[in-house]
Amino acid sequence: MPWSFDYLIVGAGFAGLTAAEQLCTQSGKRCLVVEKRDHIGGNAYDRHDDHGVLIHCYGPHYFRTNSPRIREYLSQFTEWHPVDYTILSHTGNRYWKFPINLNTFEQIIGRNSTSEEMEAWLAEKRVPIDNPANSEELIISQVGWELYEKFFKGYTLKQWKRHPKDLDASVCGRIPIRTNRDDRYLREEFQALPKAGYTRMFEKMVAACEGRLKVLLKTDYREILPHVGYGHIIHTGPIDEYFGHCYGRLPYRSLRFENESFTPEQLIEREPVSGKAGFWQPAMQVNYPNEEQFTRIVEIKHATGQLCGNSTIVREYPDDFGPGKEAYYPIPAPDAAAIYQKYKQRADGETAVSFIGRLATYHYYNMDQVVGMALAEVGRLEPNSSQR
Ligand SMILES: Cc1cc2nc3c(=O)[nH]c(=O)nc-3n(C[C@H](O)[C@H](O)[C@H](O)COP(=O)(O)OP(=O)(O)OC[C@H]3O[C@@H](n4cnc5c(N)ncnc54)[C@H](O)[C@@H]3O)c2cc1C
Repeated sequence: MPWSFDYLIVGAGFAGLTAAEQLCTQSGKRCLVVEKRDHIGGNAYDRHDDHGVLIHCYGPHYFRTNSPRIREYLSQFTEWHPVDYTILSHTGNRYWKFPINLNTFEQIIGRNSTSEEMEAWLAEKRVPIDNPANSEELIISQVGWELYEKFFKGYTLKQWKRHPKDLDASVCGRIPIRTNRDDRYLREEFQALPKAGYTRMFEKMVAACEGRLKVLLKTDYREILPHVGYGHIIHTGPIDEYFGHCYGRLPYRSLRFENESFTPEQLIEREPVSGKAGFWQPAMQVNYPNEEQFTRIVEIKHATGQLCGNSTIVREYPDDFGPGKEAYYPIPAPDAAAIYQKYKQRADGETAVSFIGRLATYHYYNMDQVVGMALAEVGRLEPNSSQR
């Protein structure tokens, strides 16, 4: 066998590269990472576009964590640019403060108010449901029908092409609802982006492995399997693909991104709307729950802090998943979970293969959770390694 490795790792995203880095640097193992795309980083890949703007190529990736261990781990490969991820919602021809907070309430009633008044208003609107079983029940039990229809229903229908009634409560439950003026989108303690971008961070992870890691891009692992020797597989690709779709295809939601770039001169004209020199819109992310076909417009320059005269916005259109499309979001619904359980049972019987990451476990995880999962798996596989 011309090529022989201790580990064959499928996928060069957060899961695959974290596992590779740890196995190489802490356990002295030789790893082969096989990635079908032409770059490392998985969905967190970023690059400078033709206008010099640093963009997130597969949708905006807002790093956040409550785990000091994961933050310390990644800090070996990057410095951080702290960010308050700010978003707004746009409907009825105007911007609304979002996630819902006291400022949103004041916009709705058209005058100043207090947390107490907002709490009393919500108490009247809420639909009493003890254990919300789906996303619609969850939101109407928190804010009532009016705010559900304004901010959640249309967005969720577009995003998932399923009624919120048919989606787990956790889907809409990710978004905080507050009666104070805290308008942060996310709840985690540490919210920051890698200072020089995700791709630079991933490159440093690869470099740390020195000669022990080989990364093979533009290759489906199934093409290479007969030609390499390996002790164990760490699979971060789709679990149904690994088992030849024997229980049917797992459903996913895909996305289509439409980028548009603007020169400094065009951005000056836009200033009455953006309210900020050098930007096209007033916040990093604006949700469009109702009137438009896209769900959101992201101008990531707000978050990266990049000093660049141009700016690029990305309109995000939810799309059906199918041949040639990326599998972005596992469907958080009971029918999909039932299919996944069958694959999971088979995966549990595979002693020479680990299934980690979002595609192999068919679950939407944030990046920090995937890093944690990879660190834990390496700890299990190599209990004597000195994990960093
Ligand atoms: C639109 C969007 C926005 C997101 N925003 C956030 C956010 O703001 N914050 C956050 O924390 N998380 C966010 N996430 C989640 C984040 O993308 C994941 O947590 C993370 O990318 C998971 O890493 P992974 O390695 O498991 O998967 P991936 O990054 O998908 O990596 C898996 C890799 O496996 C490769 N692969 C698949 N099949 C094969 C094959 N047969 N052969 C070879 N290679 C293969 C794929 O090409 C891919 O590169 C977002 C996800 C999406 C889709």
